[in-house]
Amino acid sequence: MTLTRFDWGIVKRFKVAIVGAGPAGYFAAQALQNLSDESRTFDIDMIERLPTPWGLVRSGVAPDHPKIKTVAKVFEKIAKSEGFRLFANVELGSDLTVEQLQERYDAVVIATGSAIGKKLGIPGEDLPGSISAATFVPWYNAHPDFKDESIDLSTDSAIVIGAGNVAMDVARMLALEPSELDPTDTADHAIDALKKSSIRNVLISARRGAEHAAFTSPELRELPKLEHTNVVIAKSDIDEAIARAGEDIERDTKSNLDAMLLIAEREATSHERTMTFQFLATPIEIKGNARVEEVVFQRTGSEETFSVPCGLVITAIGYEAASLEGIPYERGKVVNTDGFVRDNLYVVGWAKRGPSGVIGTNKSDAADVMHLLAASLKEPKSAGDITEILHHNKVVTQMHWEQINAAEVAAGEPLGKPRRKAVLREELLNLGGL
Ligand code: NAP
Repeated sequence: MTLTRFDWGIVKRFKVAIVGAGPAGYFAAQALQNLSDESRTFDIDMIERLPTPWGLVRSGVAPDHPKIKTVAKVFEKIAKSEGFRLFANVELGSDLTVEQLQERYDAVVIATGSAIGKKLGIPGEDLPGSISAATFVPWYNAHPDFKDESIDLSTDSAIVIGAGNVAMDVARMLALEPSELDPTDTADHAIDALKKSSIRNVLISARRGAEHAAFTSPELRELPKLEHTNVVIAKSDIDEAIARAGEDIERDTKSNLDAMLLIAEREATSHERTMTFQFLATPIEIKGNARVEEVVFQRTGSEETFSVPCGLVITAIGYEAASLEGIPYERGKVVNTDGFVRDNLYVVGWAKRGPSGVIGTNKSDAADVMHLLAASLKEPKSAGDITEILHHNKVVTQMHWEQINAAEVAAGEPLGKPRRKAVLREELLNLGGL
């Protein structure tokens, strides 16, 4: 005789709340779905502050990198699986508390990322015209909280500080011929502003040598494909970096330096817009009367200082997690041991390990934490449903989100865009029929 699930009668049904609908949250949900078997299942409620899910895939990934966004198909498959519910436009802190979730669920997973841009901590950093990538990136990606940022692009020169992929995205967005953004899902307000932009020179500035740059080589290798932008790297910078890196060079570093050397050795182009890389320059002060006029750098490892005039500075030097009440934080991360925080509380993604790695890094990271979580659950003991404590009627469920998503895609179609993003919360809620 074959025993069916029903015959066994012992399928344990656990309830898990995941806070944050970005890549780490979806990969945590997927890991739990994969851990479901004949003996246990996991019902997942995903809670998100914005009216839209997908986190950085919607608000972070550069719009000229549509391939990276195809991972959203995986997220939607996870969302359509049995036992998954979305509660977007619901904020932890104002709509409900961590404790309330902990009482109602067998486990709670924090997946809220790190949204705050790190600061340089140098004089002049707060002058108008000095902003963080944590503002600029969500602004061009149509994040509702950043629509009204006044980003002044009426200057000839901009400096992007940092040598990571975010700095590269920011510099590219500033240095692209803006009509190249027409077939992308860049926010309409950003395309309009970038078309009016006076910026023609973008300096991307690293405090260490090229051998320490945090760019990844696919991003460097696509730069020569920019059709309307000169990309300038001094060959001497790369030759010196290669010499410093020596024989025992790591594979990724070598690949980066090879990619930079290719750019450095290319014949110069004479487009209207230029993106230049600067190495070994530590910013020590941002100067200006009433707004940014120049950045003072120290040649790293020496006493020499020099100034570069500019009207816009964007810092892209890493992120910190925004704190949530009732959750312990230290150095921009949730205090945790391998993802375990306390009681039935866990953390995954950038909120757990800090802002590093690509989107896929969150998959194995979340799977490890969900194994721990699942092993800790013996008997279901959650009580009550989230709907009993959610007292507002503008909750975006999966059904509403699918309506928003379809409306955005349909609005983009005649314009040759993958989607035309709605920006304001009310606009998004309207599209969802709320
Ligand atoms: P990141 O890769 O950690 O780079 C941060 C950069 O800021 C480093 O070059 C760092 O230099 C510099 N920095 C830090 N503090 C500084 C200071 N006080 N003064 C001057 N420079 C300073 O961070 P990220 O660019 O924010 O990216 C976060 C993660 O997302 C990374 O893993 C990145 O690869 C990933 N990402 C991937 C993509 C993609 O795949 N296309 C796109 C965007 C982001 P030091 O090394 O000297 O500290």
